[in-house]
Amino acid sequence: MFWADKIVNDIREKLADEKNAKSALVIRDEKTASGPVHVGAMRGAALHGILSYILRNEGYENTYLYEINDFDAFDTVPHGVDESFAEHLGKPLFAVPSPDGNGNYAEHYGNAFARVIQAAGFEPHVYYSSGEYKAGKYNDVIKTALTRATDINRINKEVSGSEKDAAYLPLMVICEGCGKVATTRAVKFNGETVHYVCDQEGSGALGCGHEGNVSPYDGNAKLPWKVEWAAKFKVFDVDIEGEGKDLATKGGARDVANHICREVFKWKPPYDAPYEFLLVDGKKMSTSKGNAATAVAVSALMPSKIFRTLLLGRDVRRAINFDPSGDTIPLLFDQYDRVAQKYWEGADDDDARLFSLIHEDDEPEAFFLPRFSQIAYLVQMTHLSLEDEVAAMKGAPLTEAEKKELEERAGYAQRWLREYAPDDFKFELQKDAVPSGAQTLSPGMKTAIGKILRYIEVHEDLDGQELHSALHDIRKESGVEPAVFFSAIYQSFLGTDSGPKAGWFLSVLPREFLIERLEEVSK
Ligand SMILES: [Zn+2]
Repeated sequence: MFWADKIVNDIREKLADEKNAKSALVIRDEKTASGPVHVGAMRGAALHGILSYILRNEGYENTYLYEINDFDAFDTVPHGVDESFAEHLGKPLFAVPSPDGNGNYAEHYGNAFARVIQAAGFEPHVYYSSGEYKAGKYNDVIKTALTRATDINRINKEVSGSEKDAAYLPLMVICEGCGKVATTRAVKFNGETVHYVCDQEGSGALGCGHEGNVSPYDGNAKLPWKVEWAAKFKVFDVDIEGEGKDLATKGGARDVANHICREVFKWKPPYDAPYEFLLVDGKKMSTSKGNAATAVAVSALMPSKIFRTLLLGRDVRRAINFDPSGDTIPLLFDQYDRVAQKYWEGADDDDARLFSLIHEDDEPEAFFLPRFSQIAYLVQMTHLSLEDEVAAMKGAPLTEAEKKELEERAGYAQRWLREYAPDDFKFELQKDAVPSGAQTLSPGMKTAIGKILRYIEVHEDLDGQELHSALHDIRKESGVEPAVFFSAIYQSFLGTDSGPKAGWFLSVLPREFLIERLEEVSK
């Protein structure tokens, strides 16, 4: 059974009562807009999105809430943002200006991330956390937290072993003196107002020394992280919410939040669906300026259906390693092509199910899908007509849908080659002269090349697959080691030791050039 269907089955069992009691279940996920959002956050967004989709299809009405957390403190000036932003450290993210001057900092990054979620085909209701505080939705839970401070400290200690300073209340007040939220401590609550002092060091900022009394409600203050998480379960009446595995350990943040939720807020914590990370390897992507592994940057490297293949194609309990400078992108296209084929052949397995979920049950009719890796080679052979070559692979003219698909793949292939592809996917025909690596071939290899030449001379229309078998036969006859044999072929045309699949590669070279070069190197 497909991994998401297993989770849904479990949810149906565990949340049977909730389904009967409520008109719609609530599914929730969130991300703090502390800077450009890493693509890893898409794993949670996609998990909750697909659960929402499957549940709805099975008659479980639900609302998928996605929170952009804009009330946490601004704690690092990210790469690419002006250093002068350091003056805002410690302020709530909604109170920090946007780097582009439009709206605030959290909206700048939060909206960009929300657009990626939508482009990936998920449609949560996106909201900003400060708005809910300002609207008074947290007032009750804040009051409960302030009156149960001792219990919260005890739970924190019992569950996670962390020793919080019991003299402070679980509340982060926005200082009326300096506007920072990370530098205050609330010391007393009289039932109406809290007394706070701004004298702490937090999020890279120092308190201003201000001291005052303020109402803890309506957006003047926020709850600290784990207490806030527990409170959100109640405030939004959440039924289903997972988190990254780093937070899901015993004694970890979720464990603490669940305990606080039950004991302090007297509320049942939501169904939990922890998930593994989506890691980005490629050095190019993690270090170079403006090319960080953000959700915006990664999603731009592939069409929506391939992004969904990345996000849904692996059980959430297994990590995903995405490396744009390796072969991850061609392999993702291959995976998509494979599950499409399975679906079109009428299979009833996890692959076919994945295809349905990628397209949310609006699957396209069967059509010819050219391999991405071959398109990536073809676009580098500027003497060829892409459409003619792909029609030859298919064995028939392309339909409109196929032409559109080809155009899309060619665009993404060019971008990938330009920005990330490893060298063995890139090549340049050495048209002017025989590359040095092919100038001194062994007599045995020269004989073998002579045989390839004769095969080509008698086959007017070369077929990549047939030529491929012929190459293997010629290699065996001539007794040359495979590595030496194929390297000699690539050296002859590309000046490299490796390249695209040899039979196919030779079959698409301009015929005159191919024969001429083989004559030269076999001399
Ligand atoms: Zn202050």
